[in-house]
Amino acid sequence: MTARSPITSTMQDDFQLTITAILRHGATVHGRSECVTWLGDRGSHVSFAEIARNAERLAAALAALGIGAGDRVGTFCWNNQAHLEAYYAVPCMGAVLHTINIRLPAAQVAHIVNHAEDRVVIVDGTLVPLFAQVLPLLTTVETVIVAGQADTAALGDVHVLRYDQFLAGQEPGFCWPDLDEKSAALVCYTSGTTGDPKGVVYSHRSTFLHALSGQAATLTGPTDADKILTFVPMFHVNAWGIPFGAFMSGASLLMPGPFMNAEGVCAFIRAERPTLAAAVPTIWQAIAQYGQTTDIDLSSLRMGTSGGAAVPRSLLRAFQDRYGLRIIQGWGMTETSPVGGMAHRPAGVEPGTEEELDWRMKSGRITAGVQMRITDDSGAELAWDGASVGEIEVRGPWITGSYHRDSAPDSFHDGWLRTGDIGTIDDRGYFQITDRAKDVIKSGGEWISSVELENLLAGCPGVLEAAVIGIPDEKWTERPLACVVVEGEADPAQLASYLAGKVARWQVPENWAFVAEIPKTTVGKYDKKLLRARFKEGELAVRRLRD
Ligand code: ADP
Repeated sequence: MTARSPITSTMQDDFQLTITAILRHGATVHGRSECVTWLGDRGSHVSFAEIARNAERLAAALAALGIGAGDRVGTFCWNNQAHLEAYYAVPCMGAVLHTINIRLPAAQVAHIVNHAEDRVVIVDGTLVPLFAQVLPLLTTVETVIVAGQADTAALGDVHVLRYDQFLAGQEPGFCWPDLDEKSAALVCYTSGTTGDPKGVVYSHRSTFLHALSGQAATLTGPTDADKILTFVPMFHVNAWGIPFGAFMSGASLLMPGPFMNAEGVCAFIRAERPTLAAAVPTIWQAIAQYGQTTDIDLSSLRMGTSGGAAVPRSLLRAFQDRYGLRIIQGWGMTETSPVGGMAHRPAGVEPGTEEELDWRMKSGRITAGVQMRITDDSGAELAWDGASVGEIEVRGPWITGSYHRDSAPDSFHDGWLRTGDIGTIDDRGYFQITDRAKDVIKSGGEWISSVELENLLAGCPGVLEAAVIGIPDEKWTERPLACVVVEGEADPAQLASYLAGKVARWQVPENWAFVAEIPKTTVGKYDKKLLRARFKEGELAVRRLRD
């Protein structure tokens, strides 16, 4: 046999996948697409080309202030134009953007800003009073840049600059540096639903690839005919990467600013007619409830997306039946950039059928680029049979391999991220989260899925919200306690009998607490940590059905 010559790739593999490459594409190819910020009565429109010019001005101004490669610049902002400009200016100049969760308590905001060592923070004018409470606790911030109208007296003697003046002093044309695609671009802290916030640092490459994956129709597949209502906050996992994906597809970005309630968002939808909308289930729930008493127009939407927590089947059905709107569920976490999969129906399943809804109730279907597996307590891999339940582990180019200044060894397993989510995977790659490891209810050696009980309860007439936690039980180790918000009379026996035919008898909760509201985390998830604490402190009035 004759020896064959070796073969190597002839591709330009040294081309760096950077956010700068995304910015250049959006500013030129899609320069006419728009960022629309809602002002409460109308949208303020600005083109992607103008966003890019402002990003150049902002980068020049930050450089003049002494910000350089690797420096952290925080944002304490709503979803709006200035925030989008920072999204591009900061990473493209080689610095690192830290999007701060404005809803965290002051001490936690201070903790993450000090931990990330932000030198500059861009603060939305409406949030100045909130930020002023944090400021005395900060150890690394030298300058605060205030975007929008505000009385800045409360900020004391820290160096304060005005965003508009800051930019006005510069011309566009900042020369973006060549960056290594593996360099740090953005940092986000987990929202701390189950533990303390941890910093996840995204690279240019991970951000580019994650945004590119979102272009596929298996996810949202946007085009420049789309307008995406970005209701998920830009401080929560980079608004699921939507601001970056939009500069790839040319889809316009609709930013709600501080108008984050159902009334505000419905007015925005009516006026600006988005085609896509991304929000967590509690927001979809709020829109559905608002729609019961008010005439809302969702006819412009071709699809909604929901993620961050399980979405109740009754909610998916309500949007479909009332508004013809298909909400597709996705799964992800801060550590996964976040999108790991979305639950579109598979081939051959008719839209609008119960079977379709069965598929859409999955947490997602693994997206290309992400590898997923489930493992048992010993770490052994379990079958993709849709029945074996274990911890979900993932790896891939936009999955974190560590945390910023936090070793967290228990979070990783042979190079895979342990998600802390418990669930199944089937032979087509659809996965179903049944619980978070910390929320699992262990009753008599069997597991009860709090997610399943919540989903069923949400479909029960008269139930507005339901969260189920495990409480200690002498005989069974743990039993479920259903915390429910109801319209009208609270009748635990009626709710239990509603569940009786739908889950095994032993899974039906005998402990019920009727509350005015389920507490939520800063990103709108049921705060079960707080519910458990309230139960422990005896603050929940528990009604017991049987002994
Ligand atoms: P935190 O972990 O602090 O809540 P994240 O926003 O990163 O912050 O939350 C990620 C978690 O949200 C996942 O690990 C999972 O438990 C939950 N989650 C996200 N999407 C879904 C979904 N579609 N169904 C059920 N749970 C989900």
